[in-house]
Amino acid sequence: MAAPIERLGIVGAGTMGAGIAQVAVQAGVAVWLTDAQPGAVERASERVGEGLQRVVARGGLSAEQRAAALARLHHAPDLRALADCELVVEAVSEREALKREVFRELDGIVPPSTILASNTSSISITRLAAATRRPDRVVGMHFFNPVPVMRLVEVVRGMDTSEATLERVRALAVALGKTPIEVRDYPGFVSNRLLMPMINEAAYALMEGVASAEAIDQVMTLGANHPMGPLALADLIGLDVCLDIMRVLHTGFGDDKYRPCPLLVNLVAAGRLGRKSGEGFFKYDTAR
Ligand code: NAD
Repeated sequence: MAAPIERLGIVGAGTMGAGIAQVAVQAGVAVWLTDAQPGAVERASERVGEGLQRVVARGGLSAEQRAAALARLHHAPDLRALADCELVVEAVSEREALKREVFRELDGIVPPSTILASNTSSISITRLAAATRRPDRVVGMHFFNPVPVMRLVEVVRGMDTSEATLERVRALAVALGKTPIEVRDYPGFVSNRLLMPMINEAAYALMEGVASAEAIDQVMTLGANHPMGPLALADLIGLDVCLDIMRVLHTGFGDDKYRPCPLLVNLVAAGRLGRKSGEGFFKYDTAR
């Protein structure tokens, strides 16, 4: 059996980095969290503290266990402070050049045995691995938002990812209370290859006047038992993020079945990005 991961590095202390940090410290793993933006790690630590407080309120942890979990969260000033980690999860913004640079730098800092994982939603793991001298120890670890709630980790196997790497990553996901599902490195993996074309098609149905936005969403909530309709889900994810992922699918497969819906393109151009801007397919009282 693979040795369990006891020291986890996380690069990027945004929405996902903070969520991954919370589930890791709660599971007894020591975490070193770093971010390029001053104050980001401190804000993430506060969110981890609040998240753990909610677990205490539900009876899932005692106050002492919460304090012990928080003590496992270390603020790392830069990538060099991650030098002793056995696995590092990269969760910086979804830009390939940025992620490649983080992987290149980490490769020169951490020991050869350390696994480098990316939480990317759509960027090729094989291309990120090519920025390192350890492509067998580079893997996708795609968590879902909100991390403490969502049970899936899509484990993405790059062209050269080794069995031993996959085994350790699967074991870590299970230790964090998640279910790992292994997929190969093709555009959108499985999650976004299925989800985004559905959202894009819902936008086409709206654009063509097939039904109102409310009706399209109700068809899927009432008729397919989806917890929320595709247009409301797109507003929650961010229409800019949805458009970026459609473009990755379109370019990656070179197939026009993935062409982004012009209505989606226009909404993004107009700055209607969904909940975060106060309006997308639907209007919201306050911007998030
Ligand atoms: P976010 O914008 O909330 O956080 C990104 C963080 O990365 C920011 O704090 C930023 O300061 C930091 N950062 C940028 N460049 C850096 C660098 N060079 N070194 C260190 N830190 C750096 O983004 P997020 O929503 O947490 O997304 C992070 C990753 O997770 C992306 O790849 C995204 O595609 C993926 N993802 C997001 C979701 C989601 O729903 N938000 C779901 C699954 C996967």
